[in-house]
Amino acid sequence: MGRGWGMGSGWGSGLGFAALPQGAPPALTAPKVDLERCVGCGECARACPFGAIEIRDGKAVVNEVICRGCRACASACPTGAIS
Ligand code: SF4
Ligand code: SF4
Repeated sequence: MGRGWGMGSGWGSGLGFAALPQGAPPALTAPKVDLERCVGCGECARACPFGAIEIRDGKAVVNEVICRGCRACASACPTGAIS
């Protein structure tokens, strides 16, 4: 009786998700381009919904400021150069 709600229901810690102690989770970081595998085809740049990739000197370059970490580019790359 009387113990179901109140303490320990999970809402009262005050931290919420405003502060992540270990930094951003991997899914939200910019992908890495393996320059030895990249053939400069531009598929990743076309696939990126945010326009975060450009082809420079025949290689894909990710703008980490614009990138949202959605990994659409990694799925699109035919050579598996993006991880
Ligand atoms: S992870 Fe998403 S936002 Fe970032 S470069 Fe790739 S497609 Fe663009
Ligand atoms: S899709 Fe892959 S191979 Fe093509 S430009 Fe992008 S990283 Fe390079």
